[in-house]
Amino acid sequence: MWPSDGVVFDRGCTACPRLARYLAEGRKQYPHYYCAPVAPFGDANARLILVGLAAGFHGANATGRPFTGDHAGVLLYQTLHRFGFASRPVSVSIDDGLELFDCRITNSVKCVPPQNKPTSTEIRTCNRYLAAELAQAPRQVVLLALGSIAHGAVLRALSLPPARYKFAHAAEFRLPGGQVLLDSYHCSRYNTQTRRLTTAMFEAVFARARSLLDAMD
Ligand code: SF4
Repeated sequence: MWPSDGVVFDRGCTACPRLARYLAEGRKQYPHYYCAPVAPFGDANARLILVGLAAGFHGANATGRPFTGDHAGVLLYQTLHRFGFASRPVSVSIDDGLELFDCRITNSVKCVPPQNKPTSTEIRTCNRYLAAELAQAPRQVVLLALGSIAHGAVLRALSLPPARYKFAHAAEFRLPGGQVLLDSYHCSRYNTQTRRLTTAMFEAVFARARSLLDAMD
């Protein structure tokens, strides 16, 4: 479990009043759920950093691990395993022994928002943690943004102008700090069931991430 150091992650953070209230309601309704800010998962020195949107109510918010427990994680962990970034193709629970290799998963907003929609203020408020996380990351990393909100959160965390880096599926940007930013549509249930994001499209992005990392060796 990532330490709650108050810099990269704070398990007791209540800086977003609407989200803190929502978590308190969730704890009452589902006492066995995790219901707190969700820590990044994976290697602190990883060179592939996946950035998602926010915790899902019955997923990360229930289990305490990003993309675990709901539909969004199915394709993600399957793909991570296929490209050698995960020890198994399925993430079941925070204590299932799954390991990530040279990879970390984090979210733009650490708490679950109602209807999976954080406000722009909440995205800005939580960006302090992503900024601290990216500041501590190795210089040469691949930042894989899952969706346009994550893309924007990465740019904000790195103080880069959004007008210069437009989100598009499979877009790739060399950033001034040495990182590569890769974009993908989010692997949400909606996107996969409508085939806006197919398995082949998602795998192509991970194949590119793998080849970028291999070139950095
Ligand atoms: S979303 Fe982020 S900033 Fe807002 S309360 Fe949760 S951890 Fe704190």
